[in-house]
Amino acid sequence: MAYDANNVFARILRGEIPCKKVYEDTHVLAFHDINPQAPVHILVIPKGAYVSLDDFSARASDAEVVAFTRALGEIARAQGVDRSGYRTLANHGADANQEVPHFHVHIFGGRRLGRMISKG
Ligand code: 5GP
Repeated sequence: MAYDANNVFARILRGEIPCKKVYEDTHVLAFHDINPQAPVHILVIPKGAYVSLDDFSARASDAEVVAFTRALGEIARAQGVDRSGYRTLANHGADANQEVPHFHVHIFGGRRLGRMISKG
């Protein structure tokens, strides 16, 4: 799947759409989800143009992968959910209902989150 440079997270990265930023470094931006599903619901995105986890895992540089992984833990600690617990989630493609085609990881926390997934 080709990267759509007009997806909403690309527009946030260009500053065309505002976001409630919680973290930024050379490779990573994180902000509050516009429609939070838990008291803590943060979206963590790479600044590079990657469609999904599949794309990021195949093409991102070691520096980007390391920065992204370190940022996930740092953001969770800064949100105060490292002790109570949290969940990370990355949707890839149709079966996972990925809505925004720019790789992102959700961080959910601040309440009991229940089991991982419904049986559908
Ligand atoms: P996905 O289903 O692709 O994993 O999740 C996309 C997420 O992006 C959803 O949780 C949705 O609420 C969030 N989202 C969509 N548009 C915007 C936006 O303009 N700003 C922010 N902060 N979040 C958004």
